Amino acid sequence: MAERPYIVGNWKMHGTRAMLSEARAIDRAAERLMKVEVAIAPPFTLIHATRKEAALIGVGAQDCHAAEGGAHTGDISAAMLKDAGAGFVIIGHSERRADHDEKDSDVRAKAEAALAVGLSVIVCVGETEAERDAGKAVRVVAKQLDGSLPQADSAAEKVTVAYEPVWAIGTGRTPTLDDIEAMHRAIRERLHEIYGDAAESVRILYGGSVKPDNAAEILNIAEVGGALVGGASLTAESFVGIMTAA
Ligand code: PGA
Repeated sequence: MAERPYIVGNWKMHGTRAMLSEARAIDRAAERLMKVEVAIAPPFTLIHATRKEAALIGVGAQDCHAAEGGAHTGDISAAMLKDAGAGFVIIGHSERRADHDEKDSDVRAKAEAALAVGLSVIVCVGETEAERDAGKAVRVVAKQLDGSLPQADSAAEKVTVAYEPVWAIGTGRTPTLDDIEAMHRAIRERLHEIYGDAAESVRILYGGSVKPDNAAEILNIAEVGGALVGGASLTAESFVGIMTAA
């Protein structure tokens, strides 16, 4: 298990160059808060500028295409992300799965494309509210892991898993601490089945309504290696609040 909590901001479709001042402030705070590893995933258009303005933190993207290049109007390849300065890419976020009908097999293909050019990947999984209510959350997430993760054991060191219950994203609702712990333990077990001993190096982040006031208790849970943060990553004030709580 990695020692430092990994706190990743997902800016989603937010941010023009005016927001680079937030990235700079986050970067300055990261210099003080060496006990956390910090990264942000701005929109594609800000990756290059964020990399230049924020030297200490990780910078990544929110999606990539599975192909190396070609006739895919409007899409971005993993190599382009790397060229722009990204070090990682978030793959299979539930908003991509819902809005773009991305299946587990698409997520795996994208993750493998990203690994092939040397990027790290954060692969997102998580159940819907109906699936949780039906008692199927662990089974759904296990199936997503089986279908979405790149398979080679050597992939494990470049893979992070983000557990994000769909119903907790942007809603202000979170699972109980016990439910988060149970799911993260189940994910760790599944990772062992997939990667063997290499599974221990995979960080498992929690995502879904992480805020400065609940970050400490969530990040204290066994097997929670960090957080993937949406809304609360959009201002340095709230994101640094989470970094400080970690
Ligand atoms: P949220 O989003 O923090 O706004 O709930 C998390 C995410 O979608 O990664």
